Amino acid sequence: MKSVAILHASQLVTLSGPKRPRIGGEMSDLAVIRDGGMLIRAGKIDIIGPSNEIEKNAGDAEVVDGAGKVVLPGFVDAHTHLVFAGNRLEDFERRARGETYEKIAAAGGGIWSTVEKTRASNDADLLAQAKKHVNWFLKCGTTTVEAKSGYGLTLEDELKILRVMRRLNQETPLEVVPTFLGAHAIPREDRPSVYVDLVINEMLPRVASEKLAEFCDIFCERGYFDIEQSRKILSAAKKLGLKLRMHVDQLTNSGGAKLAADLGATTADHLEKTDEQGIAAMKAAGVQPVLLPGSVYALGSTSYPRAREMIDAGLAVVLATDFNPGSSPTVSMPMILSLACTQMKMSPAEAIAASTINAAYSLQRGEKIGSLEPGKLANFSIFDCEDYRELAYWFGIPQTHSVYVKGERVAGA
Ligand SMILES: [Zn+2]
Repeated sequence: MKSVAILHASQLVTLSGPKRPRIGGEMSDLAVIRDGGMLIRAGKIDIIGPSNEIEKNAGDAEVVDGAGKVVLPGFVDAHTHLVFAGNRLEDFERRARGETYEKIAAAGGGIWSTVEKTRASNDADLLAQAKKHVNWFLKCGTTTVEAKSGYGLTLEDELKILRVMRRLNQETPLEVVPTFLGAHAIPREDRPSVYVDLVINEMLPRVASEKLAEFCDIFCERGYFDIEQSRKILSAAKKLGLKLRMHVDQLTNSGGAKLAADLGATTADHLEKTDEQGIAAMKAAGVQPVLLPGSVYALGSTSYPRAREMIDAGLAVVLATDFNPGSSPTVSMPMILSLACTQMKMSPAEAIAASTINAAYSLQRGEKIGSLEPGKLANFSIFDCEDYRELAYWFGIPQTHSVYVKGERVAGA
């Protein structure tokens, strides 16, 4: 495997620091090296420092000129729904015309239309569409994603989605961390109690025995899964050795953040309606909040989660795209950085810490990815700008120069 030397980066944004998620003021310290260099050997970061030092050690390494460019750890997107069939263009246009969610669902739209298309899709077609999404992620500088099932809602269809993720890991450079989200919605054909039993007694044991997921998630919300159903399903998942992530407090403040704290969940995601008590409960239990401003934006809402209060309370905030066909059709972490700064009043530095090192820890991969430090995987992106703040500032403009996974160039202009 060839060695690679990145030299003369305007800013090498390392995020080196303590071996744990960043909180409070730590989120503003990105440990930037100006005129920085990095030597990569065997897919890992060997040395990092001032460019002239790296040059001395470069030997016969392939040199990549970073002059006038920013180098950043690959983005870690800790909340996506990567695998689904089709799109939701009809819903999108209806929403633009001002129709309500209820009216759109009655017209055959909503999550159910994606479930029907995903069930009807065979493995090859589902995999082909997922690979298209994977390329979009890589082009935007994302090198690891968490991905949820949840558009199957039968045992076989949920397994089908998780197996597609396994193949993405084998056949593409993107690292996919699989999450079982059988409790995404209650299928039309089942009564709620019957479906909860199906998830607990049939789906979870199969997912665990085939090692198809690391995490279990649930959509805890009025009209989906209530607090008691959520507790039941997630407790069963925990017994089988799965870690927990949760969709909570998106539409109503239903006590979901508190439940995430009670259950010792790794993350609580969305949190648009979470109040001070929810924030305090997450802090006490060490739950990482995963904020998804893309879905607030794409739904035309203005109800963003209270990012500032969460950072001030000492929570290790994570940002993610929530990539999905209904409420957040974007894979672009730079777009999320823009939304975090303009809509949630995070600083560009905080937003970058939230989408790299903190996200990596939320996926239990903080020792391996999320920052540029010796010994870590050489997953990084080079951007055509001189200052990392430009990534959040020039919104809607692609700035990716090239993207590397384990020292290999996998995407770029
Ligand atoms: Zn989601």
